[in-house]
Amino acid sequence: FLEGKTAVVTGSNSGIGLGIAVELARSGADLVLNSFTDNDDDHALAASLAAEHGVTARYIRADMSKGDDCRALILAAGRCDILVNNAGIQHVAPIPEFPAEKWDAIIAINLSSAFHTTAVALPMMREAGWGRVINVASAHGLTASPFKSAYVAAKHGIVGFTKVTGLETATDPITCNAICPGYVLTPIIEKQIPDQMKTHNMSREEVIAKVMLQRQPSGQFATVEQVGGTVVYLCSPAADQVTGTTISVDGGWTAL
Ligand code: NAD
Repeated sequence: FLEGKTAVVTGSNSGIGLGIAVELARSGADLVLNSFTDNDDDHALAASLAAEHGVTARYIRADMSKGDDCRALILAAGRCDILVNNAGIQHVAPIPEFPAEKWDAIIAINLSSAFHTTAVALPMMREAGWGRVINVASAHGLTASPFKSAYVAAKHGIVGFTKVTGLETATDPITCNAICPGYVLTPIIEKQIPDQMKTHNMSREEVIAKVMLQRQPSGQFATVEQVGGTVVYLCSPAADQVTGTTISVDGGWTAL
């Protein structure tokens, strides 16, 4: 049902962004994939998604830590009916030791990028007469954990930005919502497992069960397909009146 719509998904050469792009393509949307790299693999990924799903797919390099790049991405896409602000990074350290440059990078990539892309995309959506802005926040947009100061601040920030965008577009045929996943086993999480094994002197399995999924009452990771399916729902007519809010995909984390 998304034939003729173009979806721009930031940070979509891996993990959740890629999972979202796949589900959107399965529903017929043309794709613009993005990351800060410009490898043959990135362009090959776009070509393979296009061939598999019978849509058009392009890969456009843009560094989401730079406001000008964020804006240039949307302009280069040419049209943007569905904007998924997904790019994100993590760093874990106590506040006194938290490197200032990591703080700045996390705020830029996980929060400010969405401001820049949305600022350029909204006029295009108004012109086209339909639009969806979907921000990939986190359970950490609604709750906190120690040692993730920048990430929690950025994710709470993007939940606030989602509400404002929902209000500013309330009378347009445009919605803006945030998805708040719990733990999803993607590269960003894989990278944390060895450190957690050392910190807690635990096996991989123990870290997953006792550290990560201890917060997730279902005891299971959410999947990229489930987050992608939630994006597709938000693009459907059933979600026309869903705006300025959050949808958790967290196995019950934020109900605790
Ligand atoms: P990931 O590391 O697999 O993917 C991150 C993506 O962002 C990659 O495609 C990467 O290339 C891209 N990216 C990083 N820096 C960039 C930059 N400067 N410019 C452009 N692209 C950049 O991680 P993921 O788990 O798929 O994370 C995707 C989003 O989901 C993030 O916003 C993350 O905070 C959020 N999230 C993840 C989880 C989880 O458990 N995995 C939970 C909640 C929220």
